[in-house]
Amino acid sequence: MSNCIFCKIIDKSIAAKIVYEDNDIIVFNDIHPKADIHYLIIPKVHIESMLHLESKHTELMGKIMLKTNMIAQEAGLLGYKININTGVKGGQEVFHLHLHLLGNK
Ligand code: AMP
Ligand code: ZN
Repeated sequence: MSNCIFCKIIDKSIAAKIVYEDNDIIVFNDIHPKADIHYLIIPKVHIESMLHLESKHTELMGKIMLKTNMIAQEAGLLGYKININTGVKGGQEVFHLHLHLLGNK
């Protein structure tokens, strides 16, 4: 989506500190970290929010959860929080679905 900041990170027209990338997912540092580790995990396909999930996204969302856990463990976290702000009322500011991975060392 042309005016989406996270799509611009995916297509590299905006810089980010990318920590993991494959065909389906990209993971980068949140620009305003709220913990020692604060990554954003996003699908490469533009899905606005959890409110816009469809059954065709089942496999993708499963992969995101497994990769998030893998990345948390590789970062040395013994425990972590996953936050998915959803919709304006849920505090979402960037309307490209993303998981916040938050953990302290
Ligand atoms: P949310 O309220 O869940 O939509 O949070 C959006 C998150 O994106 C915030 O934690 C921001 O700090 C983060 N963010 C916004 N722009 C960028 C960017 N260019 N690079 C990295 N993180 C960003
Ligand atoms: Zn997008």
